[in-house]
Amino acid sequence: MTAQVETGSSPQAPEPEEESLAARLQRFVGRPSRPPVSAADPVNQPMVRHWCEAIGDGNPVYTDPQAAGASRHRGLVAPPTMLQVWNMPGLRPVPPLPGEDQLGELIGILDQAGYTAIVATNCEQEYARYLRPGDLLSATSMIEAISEEKRTALGSGYFINLHETYTDQRGEVVGTMMLRVLKFRPNERAESSPPAAPPRRPRPVVNDDNRFFWEGVGRGELLIQRCTGCARLRHPPRPMCPHCRSLEWDTRRSGGRGTVYSYVIPHHPPVPPFTYPHVVGLIELVEGTRLVSNVIDIDPAEVRIGMPVEVCFITVDDELVLPQFRPTVGNRER
Ligand code: ZN
Repeated sequence: MTAQVETGSSPQAPEPEEESLAARLQRFVGRPSRPPVSAADPVNQPMVRHWCEAIGDGNPVYTDPQAAGASRHRGLVAPPTMLQVWNMPGLRPVPPLPGEDQLGELIGILDQAGYTAIVATNCEQEYARYLRPGDLLSATSMIEAISEEKRTALGSGYFINLHETYTDQRGEVVGTMMLRVLKFRPNERAESSPPAAPPRRPRPVVNDDNRFFWEGVGRGELLIQRCTGCARLRHPPRPMCPHCRSLEWDTRRSGGRGTVYSYVIPHHPPVPPFTYPHVVGLIELVEGTRLVSNVIDIDPAEVRIGMPVEVCFITVDDELVLPQFRPTVGNRER
């Protein structure tokens, strides 16, 4: 592997047209893929604890100071597999200076050449030592290798190996990571296959427990499951009452009025056929149960927790009707 960094040549310079794609790609080998990243926070207990909870790692040397002190580590350590966590750039990373984003340029060249898809294929980490609370990491990343064009089941493309090096506050290497991605030209659809239908809104999964709900929606009714043992209402539908364990139930028709209990406005990644921005709301019905739906007929920026809403039934396509919520008329007129 060569590690020459061509800092002198302008990466913006137009490439000669006769240069092959493969040759253009190879010029990136050995270059930093992005500027070095310094961790925003030192290795710390709250992040370790959240990570262990999310992963389900109950090893006390990560979270219990007493147990960690009695272990061979003689104090808390971070899970080695958190190596990549500390230098994550966050949701709003500092934009790189011109020429610093070599990986971005490489990806752009492949995009323009028709290799528009990307998938991560391998990740290998090596750990030099355990990280401890207070360690402050920096990460550098290099474009280590780019393969010849390979045929894969996904399509033809190029494997790109990135090599990340993590160092601590003393500049000592604490770990490395090899990340391999395939940047590929998606397989063409067979010419005989019909053109792909436009994406449709996902279908609800209808089963014996919730069929009444969706059949009600089809009739323009919002039904709530009611335990006939203790008369409590519950949603989403399920076979057994969580209060009295009765398996007997009937339904009650909701008046369709409620309030926005909570909501989110998804932005990324955009998923067809949804249009953005839109509001995913948790609606608390007057009857007391809550359901997830959309808040429509309002600028998403105007949605507020607690605002009164009422149900409406939207025909999405010839198979799907959805209950959605819009501001109650009285509320809109005020
Ligand atoms: Zn009950």
